[in-house]
Formats: sequence, C-alpha cells, structure tokens
Amino acid sequence: MNFEQIKALDEQYVLQTYGRNPVAIDHGKGATLWDTEGKQYIDFTSGIGVCSLGYANEAWAKAIYDQAMKVGHISNLFYTEPYAVLAEKLVKGSGMAGVFFGNSGAEANEGMIKLARKYSYDKYGEGRATVITLRNSFHGRTITTLKATGQDHFHEFFFPFTEGFRYADANNMESLLAVAGDDVCAVMMEPIQGEGGVNPLNKDYVQAVAKLCAEKDWLLLIDEVQTGMGRTGTLFAFQQFGIQPDVVTFAKGIAGGLPFGGFLANEKCKNVLTAGNHGSTFGGNPMAAAAANVVMDTLTPAFMQEVAEKGRYLRDGIAALESPYVSGIRGMGLMIGVGVQGMTHKELKDKLMAEGLLTLTAGKDTLRLLPPLVITKEEIDKGLAIMKKVMA
Ligand SMILES: *Cc1c(COP(=O)(O)O)cnc(C)c1O
Repeated sequence: MNFEQIKALDEQYVLQTYGRNPVAIDHGKGATLWDTEGKQYIDFTSGIGVCSLGYANEAWAKAIYDQAMKVGHISNLFYTEPYAVLAEKLVKGSGMAGVFFGNSGAEANEGMIKLARKYSYDKYGEGRATVITLRNSFHGRTITTLKATGQDHFHEFFFPFTEGFRYADANNMESLLAVAGDDVCAVMMEPIQGEGGVNPLNKDYVQAVAKLCAEKDWLLLIDEVQTGMGRTGTLFAFQQFGIQPDVVTFAKGIAGGLPFGGFLANEKCKNVLTAGNHGSTFGGNPMAAAAANVVMDTLTPAFMQEVAEKGRYLRDGIAALESPYVSGIRGMGLMIGVGVQGMTHKELKDKLMAEGLLTLTAGKDTLRLLPPLVITKEEIDKGLAIMKKVMA
C-alpha cells in the first residue's frame, strides 16, 4: 500500500485521536527509517523513546521469535523463565528490592500510586492518600494519571477525575511545602520532565525532596517511564541524582518496541501489594520479557558510557550550528531538548522531516530528541547535517 491508501483507511476506520505526521513508515535498520514511498530518514525519535535498540535488531527479533515458538503468553497464573530472569537484572541494576510487570507507562504509574496509598493506609489508616506532583509533569492518559499530570489542559472533559492530587512548582521547595499537609502520602516526579519540555530537575532540589519524604514518611515516587532504561546514560536517571526512590516506574524503552512497563519497589515497599491487590493479564508476558532481556543485556556500563558520549556529541554538534532558531539546549544522555525561537517547534519539526530527519516536540517551544540508543556517530552526523541545512 502507498501512503495515500493507508491514510484513507486510517481516516475512515480509526478514531482520530492523533495529529499524525504525513508519513507512513515501512521499515528501518539501526537509527535509519524508510517510508512507504522509499524516502529515507534519520530517526531522532525511536518511536517516542521506545526503540532503544533501533530497528531490525537481530538479537531482539530472534529472542521474540524463539519465545513465540515456545510459549507466547500464559498469564500470571503460571511461572515462566523470561520475566523471572528479567526481574533479577532490574532489581540488581536499580538497587531496588522487587518488581511488578505491566504493559505501559500509565499502567505502571497507576500501580505505583496504588502502592503509595496502600502503604499509607496500612500504617496510618484513612485520610492520608494525597500525592503531590509537579507542574508541567506528564504521567499518563488514564483518569488517575491525567489528574496526576500537573497541566490544567489535561484536566478537562473527563470528570469526575480521581481525587487526591496537589501540584507544586518544579525546583521550588517552598512551593512543595506550601501544599504539604497531614493528608499527604507521597511525592511523585520525573527526573527530567519529558512531554513538559525536557526540563531536568536540579540535583539539590531532588535531594531535598528525598530528605523531606524520609522525614515525613511520604513515599518518593519516581516516574522514569521516559528517562529509564539507559536513556540518560545510566540504567535509571535517579542514579545521577544521588537518591534512591521508594518506587520507580519504567516503560517506553524497556522492551525495545514491545508494550511493556512496570515498577520497582524498595525493601520498605516490597510487601505492600499482596495477592489479589494488583494484577495485569499481559504483565510479564514471555515475549515482551524476552525482548526486555535483550535490552537489559545490551545496557552494559560501557554501552551506557557511549550513550552519554553520543549525547554530548549531539548536543555539541547542535550548539556548533550557532543557529538563530536555537534558544538553549537541555537534557541528559540521549534525551535532549532544544529550545526553539523564531518559528514554532512544530514548524521546525516539519522542516526537518521534509529534509529527512525525524524529531519530536515537547512543551510549548521545545524540539525533543530521543534517538535510538544504538545510533551511530555517522547517523548523528547525517542528522546534524540536516539540522545545519534547515537551521543555520
Ligand atoms: C510516556 C510517559 C507516560 C505514559 O506512558 P504510556 O505508555 O503512554 O502510558 C508516563 N510518564 C512519562 C514520564 C512518560 O514519558
């Protein structure tokens, strides 16, 4: 099928909830993609931070195929090897104590919020269920995680939302203290706000929040759906902030393209959720877990060092363009936000796409770059050459 035929089917038969780019992707290799018309693109999106191993990764595809030919799904009524092996790797890599597996970021965050409320209920009883989140955050699209998201425009239409969320300004302890109270059970935040505009939190602030949480016995909930799984140059971004969360979520990059997510709990929170409290039919699916094992095995210290280096290389390359359209560059590792001025972020994204470079937008004025973690220097150089052509 060509682009127009696919688009016609979409418009007639699919609910129109996305502002899609006018491109139908056909296939890829590494960090390079081709559309149905044969046009080539360098990919700085990895399917919104998902395809960490790029496209058509042999080891990843083989692991999924091999597992599919053994058992593709059996539910959590039975043990299977892939998720158990994966759990050990995740727990050891994060310094946490146990993991729960689900399918998406929003589902992971829902589970984390449930855990926080039950922790507090078990210890203190009712009336201590409020979660403080940050303005400009993004935590998902379910009724609860929309309300957890600290942006007013996500709090429309779908009333009544889940109660028990209050918002504080990022990097501002006074703002956090102003919404504190006896009804609080947790603080939830992203180390780098992703959809909100690639805004990293300050290390001092994150450490001060962690200290306050410890004092008040509030749980420190870290949403690493976007920043986790090597994206910032360490397995989890929190590892660069000198803190240890009570619960941390992951999703996007974990299985390199299959739907997968979950949360890790520390020793204190490991036994809060018990049989019958929480579950997910697809959680820990053997094929997704087999794919995630390939991702985890790829994320060696040397590989993540390279992620950090490639991130610096890309940032330096963008800075060297001295583009009049760039107002600033933020981020960590291969999670980079470029402030856009002189045109809208969407106009810039469209111009880059026309020249063969795929990028994302975030916040009001940010171009967001989340290339596959396996992107090569040559692919980065091709992307930079396109940026130079469009932005210099
Ligand atoms: C993408 C994202 C989510 C939502 O994940 P889904 O898989 O789309 O449900 C939640 N939190 C953060 C930080 C995200 O980037």
